Amino acid sequence: MTSSYNAGFDIGGTQIKYGLVDPEGRLAVKGKVRSPETMAGMLAVIGETWASLKKKAPGPIRACGFGIAGFYGTRERKILQSPNFPSLNGYPILPALRRTIDVPVRIGNDANMAAYGEFRHGAGRGVRSLVLLTVGTGIGGGLILNGKLWQGEGGFAGELGHITVNPDGEPCGCGRRGCLETEASAPRLVRRYRALSGRTEVTDSREVYLRAKAGDPDALASFRELARWLGIGIGIIVTALDPEKILIGGGVVSAGRLLLDPVVEEARRWSHPIPFAGCRVEKAALGNDAGLVGAAAWAGLRAGRRG
Ligand SMILES: [Zn+2]
Repeated sequence: MTSSYNAGFDIGGTQIKYGLVDPEGRLAVKGKVRSPETMAGMLAVIGETWASLKKKAPGPIRACGFGIAGFYGTRERKILQSPNFPSLNGYPILPALRRTIDVPVRIGNDANMAAYGEFRHGAGRGVRSLVLLTVGTGIGGGLILNGKLWQGEGGFAGELGHITVNPDGEPCGCGRRGCLETEASAPRLVRRYRALSGRTEVTDSREVYLRAKAGDPDALASFRELARWLGIGIGIIVTALDPEKILIGGGVVSAGRLLLDPVVEEARRWSHPIPFAGCRVEKAALGNDAGLVGAAAWAGLRAGRRG
């Protein structure tokens, strides 16, 4: 018997990633395309991609899931606010996608989908509760509680990048200041390194990582500072939720132990010791595929229930 597949799309600010995922979480097909700027362009690209996925699929496609950056209201069934796609704000995207895609469609926040992907097929397999933090240009989060994705009553849970960790910190895009995202994201790491070292030619976090690896004290100090703020954020999460795992994903994770060791140390310092004793802080496993794998699995879950 041929296996069935679920399709997943991860709609990001610069790229749309997509793929077909089998029931074990393996990607049978995967690809990416540049994100168009307009809504019409976006729907056209999704339509073309869907048609080509159907052609390439080695078996039937049961459902299709979308992870989209921004606040997706589960009650309103609309994107209420998208930092990357202002044209998505208020747009009734679900009916538009349902006109294009002839299998059950489900939409979620991209970081929530990534958390679900790690839970079903990644570093969170076999646990009942986890929190994913994706640390890159911004910080996203997703919560799995009691074996289920927790989206909150309105769909807005897990915006962990906007937990206030420093009331005196830098202004954030959300209109407040000192959010976890303004203190611990990749751009902040670079800015901190530039401020400490005076090396204004350094423009990306990978370069700071390479310098830290080579022993540059300013680069190491920049990572420790990032780890401190991340540890404060994790402390709030662990103390509030008592999860089994905290998974760290996103671009900054490529720094490996250089980041993870100080993050674990700081998380221990800022968490209540009793819930922290039962919690593991680990690297996420699915990398850039987490969002599309999770969106596919999540859409498949609903389709399976119906079916
Ligand atoms: Zn914020």
